[in-house]
Amino acid sequence: MEWTRSETIGLASVKCVHCRGLGLREARGRLVPCACVFRSIFRACYARFRKCVEQEKRYSRVSLEYSPRGGRRITWGMKNEEYIADFYLVSRRHLTPEEWEVFRYHFLLGADSRLCTRKLKIDRGQFFHMVYRIEAKLGRVFRELQPYSLYPLDEYFYGRTENPWKGGGDEGPAAKPMRAAPAQRIPVKKVA
Ligand SMILES: [Zn+2]
Repeated sequence: MEWTRSETIGLASVKCVHCRGLGLREARGRLVPCACVFRSIFRACYARFRKCVEQEKRYSRVSLEYSPRGGRRITWGMKNEEYIADFYLVSRRHLTPEEWEVFRYHFLLGADSRLCTRKLKIDRGQFFHMVYRIEAKLGRVFRELQPYSLYPLDEYFYGRTENPWKGGGDEGPAAKPMRAAPAQRIPVKKVA
């Protein structure tokens, strides 16, 4: 899989000392995407997740989409619920048990660093290091996920979500089905 500068430059942190805002850095003689790019992708996906959770309490948007099985089949989906489920399940699948604990307390339940360090019995340094690692790890997964990536978000919600990248190798997560195709997914049940 090839990350290009045109993709990374808009996502990179301008203050990043590793890539100097370009989103690509050199490692072992070749250009690889910088962690600041992955973290930026994670933050965009996480912000959307929070927005969906908030909206989901008030209303759901039903949308029609072409079936991934092709032809003229059209299926319907509740995009916000699908996204919430995908964000949760993909994160759960790719994090280690230790990372998942931090993710759950901090990102899902909204606990701050003080509460997390007390509850998980880790120091502040360990906590922030773990948060940084989780953001970078999931940002990459959300972009490289096959066959349907979570990022870019506009493609997820409004357009084709099939990932044209082949993936594999040491460049990203293995090309195994990690998310059900839209037509096969079961809408998340509303909890009263
Ligand atoms: Zn960077």
